[in-house]
Amino acid sequence: MQIVVPLWRRGFAQYIDGWIVLDTMSSIPDWELAMPGRNAPFALAGVRNPNEILSFVEEYGLLRHSAHDGQAREAFVDWQEEVARLNRIMAWHIASLRGAVEGESAAREMAHMINEGRGDLVVRTNIRVDPDAPRGFVWQRVAQAKTLISAIYHELDELIEAERDMRYCDDCKRVFLVGDPRQQYCNVTCANRAAYHRRAARARAAANHVDAGSAGL
Ligand SMILES: [Zn+2]
Repeated sequence: MQIVVPLWRRGFAQYIDGWIVLDTMSSIPDWELAMPGRNAPFALAGVRNPNEILSFVEEYGLLRHSAHDGQAREAFVDWQEEVARLNRIMAWHIASLRGAVEGESAAREMAHMINEGRGDLVVRTNIRVDPDAPRGFVWQRVAQAKTLISAIYHELDELIEAERDMRYCDDCKRVFLVGDPRQQYCNVTCANRAAYHRRAARARAAANHVDAGSAGL
């Protein structure tokens, strides 16, 4: 199902005294958040400090405010709470896909968290005129979110329903959506860093071996 968030604002933000403050002058207005994208839940779950939140805001915007409502700041503690919640749901999903039984009450708790997070999202049926379609129109359901955070919970819900595999990156330990089953790292940066460390470790091991050899051991 397509997700639509009407007119969002994203861009430069600052961390000021426990608040994430979007710069309304320099940020990009009216970004049509037609699709926050599969990666949005993981991008949010992966933030670990105020700076990483600022990068997220640059790409996606604030969680509950588009600045159209006159609000351009959100408390850091509220962000931390959402990040913790998303990670909890993802950890549960990862474990349950691998057969770890947390039971029905845990599943209910997760569903409850998703419903809470999705908040005011409504599903609407839209008619899109398309002369090439057999009926001359396309009947489509659209999830209409009022906030970025509700779109993110909805996106995560779709992935869980589809039983999409998620995994912890071997390098940074952030959760990522598995595309290729052989994938061990969340992105190229982590894969390269891990490869570099492996090479360095091999070089050290070889050097130690030489030292041991020259010492007659
Ligand atoms: Zn990683």
